[in-house]
Amino acid sequence: QKKAIIIGSGIAGLAASIRLAHKGYQVEVFEANSYPGGKLSEISIKGYRFDCGPSLFTLPEEVDELFHLSDKTPEDYFRYQQLDVNCHYFWEDGTTVQAYADRNDFSQEVLEKLGEEPSHINAALDRSAFIYKHLAPLFMHRSLHKWSTWINKDAIKAYLKLGKLGLFHTMNQANKKQFSQDKLVQLFNRYATYNGSDPYQTPATLNIIPHLEFNRGAYFPSKGMHAITQSLYALATELGVNFSFGTPVEKIVVEKQHAKGVLAAGRFHASDLVVNNMDMVNAYKTILKDQAQPKKLLQQPKSSSALIFYWGIKKEFPELDLHNILFSENYKQEFDHIFNKQIICEDPTVYINITSVYKKDDAPDGCMNWFTMINVPNNQGQDWDLLKAKARISIINKINRTLKTDIEPLIEAEEILDPVSIETKTSSANGALYGNSSNNRYAAFLRHANYSSSIKGLYFCGGSVHPGGGIPLCLLSAKIMSNMIPKA
Ligand code: FAD
Repeated sequence: QKKAIIIGSGIAGLAASIRLAHKGYQVEVFEANSYPGGKLSEISIKGYRFDCGPSLFTLPEEVDELFHLSDKTPEDYFRYQQLDVNCHYFWEDGTTVQAYADRNDFSQEVLEKLGEEPSHINAALDRSAFIYKHLAPLFMHRSLHKWSTWINKDAIKAYLKLGKLGLFHTMNQANKKQFSQDKLVQLFNRYATYNGSDPYQTPATLNIIPHLEFNRGAYFPSKGMHAITQSLYALATELGVNFSFGTPVEKIVVEKQHAKGVLAAGRFHASDLVVNNMDMVNAYKTILKDQAQPKKLLQQPKSSSALIFYWGIKKEFPELDLHNILFSENYKQEFDHIFNKQIICEDPTVYINITSVYKKDDAPDGCMNWFTMINVPNNQGQDWDLLKAKARISIINKINRTLKTDIEPLIEAEEILDPVSIETKTSSANGALYGNSSNNRYAAFLRHANYSSSIKGLYFCGGSVHPGGGIPLCLLSAKIMSNMIPKA
């Protein structure tokens, strides 16, 4: 039986292991951590459970597909429900908006709360669906590094629509054109953060993202986000995938431009092919350091990072939902701090994710588990101890002002994740959440391919390669990659 070695058990590494096992390979996964999942992990402190990284789940069918491939019923492993309210938005002046999943309800809410014409919402979401229809087949489901991608009917259709795909202006410019109310522009600009980009720089093509949330739906796994990792790990194990935890790969062994296996735990492990799920920038610095370096790709600007306070809060706030956003007063300034000044502003937008709203046992009775996050610059050697101490005060003040509360005395458990610890825990270069940022119109073309063009038998998947970061795209990277590999 042919053997495949996978380096890393992030969501893409797990998906790759399932796909290659399905293709008949004997699969071995080497994982540096003592647990699977990479960024998609969980922690528990003082009776509170938290999903560590991703909190928003879209395109669940990409997870289901892995079970269907293996003739399994997804529901036997993993259940999820669609949200009625995608997010609850708050501003300091007391305005609140519930982003209902139902388009009519959302339009009505936006008319009542913000005075925006419902027809503008309809047109914006139709435009988002249009971008998805024309770009998803090209950019999300195929390798951009094969000629066949560029000379098929989907590509030709997209060339004909180029002017309407938002390549030539920024997301903010497009949103100012489609909405009359500043608060709604801000709400839609926020979608740039879904892949760690800046709405004032990123092309309006990223207006593809609201389509996922509004037209396709946002979901919550009934056992929390970490259940995605657990269920895929369970499936992979059933399919015979072998996992070696606490075993960092030290080197990908290449002979005569063929990947021959890896060095790990002090010895050579032979294989017919090697799949790397480790962040590419750090991979080229370590396990591929003897190989030719794709300098231009590796130098691309990275996405933003995050500062998260996992807080056990000994009170319930009925006004808060699963996803809550407390918007900053000056959004432009906030992104200027993140991407240009590379520091944290005094009035950051605060995201509070509370899984105990849906999954009661994530917090003790009468309490809530607050995953309290702000977007921050990726790590460029800033004084994080100082920035964290200041940000904690700014976040608490922001919450107090917006929710008219005094939150500090209610915090009975605390853990912190910052850009440095994100890199330590998952090897992401600079602690970036999503690999490269998408702050220019060429970004999609400057991600690493899903295969090596110079080393045979070497493949790549995960948030730092095509098509990019975020759970759905990572799952698609594993699909694009495994579609290139013949059956064993
Ligand atoms: P990673 O999760 O990056 O894991 C890589 C794995 O490789 C790690 O387990 C690491 O230990 C292992 N590894 C590295 N080097 C080696 C080596 N030499 N040998 C062996 N193993 C190695 N996405 C969403 O879709 N929705 C969200 O709401 C969302 N929010 C996020 C919030 C935060 C705070 C973070 C951190 C991320 C968020 N993301 C979100 C992004 C999403 O988590 C990532 O894009 C995705 O999980 C990355 O998966 P990956 O397969 O690239 O691997």
